[in-house]
Amino acid sequence: MKIEKSKSLFSRAKNYIPGGVNSPVRAFKAVGGDPIFFKSAKGAHMMDEDGNSYIDMINSWGPMILGHANPLVEEAVIRAIQSSPSFGAPGEREVLIAELICQLVPSIERVRMVNSGTEATMSAIRVARGYTGKDKFIKFEGCYHGHGDSFLIAAGSGAMTMGTPDSPGVTAGTTKDTLLAPYNNLDAVREIVNNHKGEMAAIIIEPVAGNMGCVLPVAGFLEGLREICDQEGIVLIFDEVMTGFRLARGGAQERLGVIPDMTTLGKIIGGGLPVGAYGGKKEIMDFVSPQGPVYQAGTLSGNPVAMAAGYTMLRYLSDHQETYGKLESNTKRIVSGYRETLEVLGLNYTINQIGSMYSLFFTDQQVVDFETAKSCDTALFGSYFNKMLEQGIYLAPSQFETLFVSAVLSDDDIDQIIRANDESLKSLVG
Ligand code: PMP
Repeated sequence: MKIEKSKSLFSRAKNYIPGGVNSPVRAFKAVGGDPIFFKSAKGAHMMDEDGNSYIDMINSWGPMILGHANPLVEEAVIRAIQSSPSFGAPGEREVLIAELICQLVPSIERVRMVNSGTEATMSAIRVARGYTGKDKFIKFEGCYHGHGDSFLIAAGSGAMTMGTPDSPGVTAGTTKDTLLAPYNNLDAVREIVNNHKGEMAAIIIEPVAGNMGCVLPVAGFLEGLREICDQEGIVLIFDEVMTGFRLARGGAQERLGVIPDMTTLGKIIGGGLPVGAYGGKKEIMDFVSPQGPVYQAGTLSGNPVAMAAGYTMLRYLSDHQETYGKLESNTKRIVSGYRETLEVLGLNYTINQIGSMYSLFFTDQQVVDFETAKSCDTALFGSYFNKMLEQGIYLAPSQFETLFVSAVLSDDDIDQIIRANDESLKSLVG
């Protein structure tokens, strides 16, 4: 595979951009090799600068659920740009998208648009603290909620450990109110809550985790969190930046039947443009400025071009419920193809899947939390990633990321994915 242009762009990029990329996981550090630079994409396929074509299994980390360059989204964006890319004042598109989000997402009665998932989670925590008058919150090891300081806490610490900063530049003062619990461990959550009676503002969780690979909540776990939050007056926040509009039109909360107090959104709601949102019960969201005292603002929030893309995407998903059946069947076919290969090769690797999210974990252990996810052979995953890439399959360049299937994969695409997986695994461990 020729990747000279990508290599040359990467070496130029490194002269001016830290590490040559604008977001770290794109750098292929976890899998070895240099990142591919892309020129265009259409439907399920991405074209790199050297003319190689790939089936995209990340879809811009989630947003491109209908594939790349969707004609409806494209047209809406062009129309919006022609009426000025930004007003810095309210417009109809903001009303349309807010109405639709409130209609589709069970927990949301009021919603505020922001520009990224990071902003959404940072703001949600601030509002939960303002609403409860409490400082502390629980996050789960292996869950990622963007790069807000208070979320950047070392994973893997014991459930009772006070958070210690995961990144230089994050102060101990900032993270002292972040408490860590292992995913899927209700007893640990109960213990933390009991040890900090009356101090807890929120519990924030990815209701299906995608940031340690795809990890599902065990039966009763989310229900248990709901119960604890109800008993203790804690705000339950579902971070549905990945799962929102992906696992169902109403997200993981609709699919799994547990309704949080607040929800954070991103990715799909922007249709590929930079958009996030947070929302929840009216009583809580009424604390947000200018209605209430909790400050949160944004020069480009509710930007008309971004709202046009997002609204068109959500309208389509809302009107075409059958998309979710297609996503499910695409993913089930891929996973069952993988399973056949694993069986033939006598491998016990774990596959976690729900809706159009899945991960193949290079471990024999069931993956239910960050500890078990870490049992994976990441070096082997790195070799597998590169074998898949050579065969034209673009995976997330880390074992600890879910894959996102799009609705536009053809039967041929799916066959090609299964074949590439088969050949990659055979050549590595066969
Ligand atoms: N929450 C979750 C669950 C995410 O997966 C991400 C990003 N992958 C974020 C928050 C942060 O979103 P953004 O990258 O748009 O800031």
